[in-house]
Amino acid sequence: MNHDVVIIGGSLAGAACARELERLGIDAIALERDRFPRRKVCGGFLSAGAVESIQRLGLLHEVLNAGAVEVKCARVRAKGIDVEIPFERPGLGISRRTLDEILACGARVQQGHHVYEIERSNGSFIVDGIRCLVVIDASGKLGRFTNRERVDEFGIQYEQPQAVGSALEFSFFEDGYGGSVSVEGGRSNVCFLIKKHALEKYLHNPDCLVTGPLAYDRLPGDFIAIGDAAGMLDPFCGEGMRHAMDSGMLAASIVAAGIKRHATYEEMKRQYESEWERRWAFKRAVGLALRRYGFRTMLRFGPPWLINRMWD
Ligand SMILES: Cc1cc2nc3c(=O)[nH]c(=O)nc-3n(C[C@H](O)[C@H](O)[C@H](O)COP(=O)(O)OP(=O)(O)OC[C@H]3O[C@@H](n4cnc5c(N)ncnc54)[C@H](O)[C@@H]3O)c2cc1C
Repeated sequence: MNHDVVIIGGSLAGAACARELERLGIDAIALERDRFPRRKVCGGFLSAGAVESIQRLGLLHEVLNAGAVEVKCARVRAKGIDVEIPFERPGLGISRRTLDEILACGARVQQGHHVYEIERSNGSFIVDGIRCLVVIDASGKLGRFTNRERVDEFGIQYEQPQAVGSALEFSFFEDGYGGSVSVEGGRSNVCFLIKKHALEKYLHNPDCLVTGPLAYDRLPGDFIAIGDAAGMLDPFCGEGMRHAMDSGMLAASIVAAGIKRHATYEEMKRQYESEWERRWAFKRAVGLALRRYGFRTMLRFGPPWLINRMWD
């Protein structure tokens, strides 16, 4: 056996999982197609819960040293609505260029390795020729190893050379929603989610990065999946990064215990999926309700505790 565990993808979910497995004494490696630092379409807002996950990984000091900016409230604008929602616990603003590098560096993440093939034979897996007991899919919302239900929405992102203070700025408009947050280096990260038919209108910025189509729901798959590969949270909840790190650490603890007691892959997968469902069902239901019934209805009639819990 080359390794106990191979993780496909070494961004937030994959790197968090690799770190936790190493801490638990398991021989694991994450294979990442990209090389860090690199940009990524993301709002750059770490909710208070995500900050906690970073602390659990022992990296909060590094993230703060890198210049992450405290975010104390959300300012949300939509037709007929302009509200400021103070956070009970502050979040942080940081670019993915910086954050992903902090998580991957010092972890067992092999950069520049694009995984093409996973085979199963005699109770183990072969990932591009590397034999292992357990495979974990952390390849994100567009990964090739898990099927998802795609929607006609795309994400776009660019940076601006000035900060926007300590608020998460958010607005809703006909073609989508999004906003900006201050990040390290006195800059701000600007990110929108745009309906496919209107995308072209928003690509005028030469620095603009695009991703999509987005896919919120995963279809039942063969592998233990973490982060966006397990299913995306609505970006409005600002909790995708927390979900990525939390599910990565959760899978690591279940897999580490499973390997030690010689559990089968299916047993570990079942246990992980039921715990994942228990932890994330509420947030996913909020995201689904928002998409189905509209964000404006939520902001106008939703109880303050529920609105605050979206970002916590
Ligand atoms: C428009 C938008 C705005 C968002 N804003 C926020 C926000 O403000 N706050 C927040 O918390 N969340 C936000 N999110 C969600 C957040 O970006 C994701 O939930 C998070 O990136 C998921 O991390 P991940 O590690 O699961 O996946 P990813 O970050 O997508 O990483 C997957 C990794 O796998 C690698 N990979 C893929 N295929 C292979 C392969 N075959 N071989 C090797 N490597 C591979 C990729 O290179 C990539 O690095 C936003 C999302 C969108 C779309």
